[in-house]
Amino acid sequence: MRNDKPMQSRTVLSLTGVERHYGQGETVLNILKDVNFSLRRGETVALVAPSGTGKSTLLHIAGLLEHPDSGEVTIGGTDCGLLSEDERTAIRRGSIGFVYQFHHLLPEFSALENIMMPQLIAGLSRKEAEERASQLLDYMRIGHRGDHRPAELSGGEQQRVAIARAVANAPLVLLADEPTGNLDPDTASYVFSALEALVRQSGLAALIATHNHDLARRMDRCVTISDGRIIDFTA
Ligand code: ADP
Ligand code: MG
Repeated sequence: MRNDKPMQSRTVLSLTGVERHYGQGETVLNILKDVNFSLRRGETVALVAPSGTGKSTLLHIAGLLEHPDSGEVTIGGTDCGLLSEDERTAIRRGSIGFVYQFHHLLPEFSALENIMMPQLIAGLSRKEAEERASQLLDYMRIGHRGDHRPAELSGGEQQRVAIARAVANAPLVLLADEPTGNLDPDTASYVFSALEALVRQSGLAALIATHNHDLARRMDRCVTISDGRIIDFTA
């Protein structure tokens, strides 16, 4: 039977005509000039581009951490440019998971508590949050590290906790900014596999910036930033 759902409903994130400039006067840097990009439900996309081309800027705009200078950002069908800061925060918390190059875990809390935190903020009970956090730790094969604080974990374990935290609220979109960029090659491959398995198993859409072409090739699609625009390429 023909799937007559409009394509639009399968798009979880779209950027249309997005521009971002830094600086003033004669020293304006036109980082993003006309970014058009859409991410469909369950789709994984690698963003591979040299340093300084605007990958982090793009992810921050897509994740509602920054405003574009012009253009539209739509998440789950909502045009986010029209929202108040409180509404943007609510969408960021409910629909977006973010993983950074450095784990940014809260140092004074255990791995388990770090994963529980976004769920508690979203209003889940302690029991529910703890159950899901334990499941995610097990899934990432660090169930035995739940009581440890970030400083007591290896770099690969810290990133696995950060990934578990990012997906704890079952977001629509996972945005990851060089999530394995700070790890040695073997650990990077292991952590990336765990991330990939989690994303595929949960049907999440993911946009992942990485410098690693081997890892990028494992995604459904690869894009790059060229002259301030997003273009598709085959890794
Ligand atoms: P990437 O993540 O691809 O390395 P970034 O998005 O971090 O690139 O940065 C793109 C360019 O924008 C860089 O030249 C950077 O120096 C510049 N840039 C980023 N943030 C700012 C800012 N807040 N003010 C001025 N320039 C910035
Ligand atoms: Mg960056």
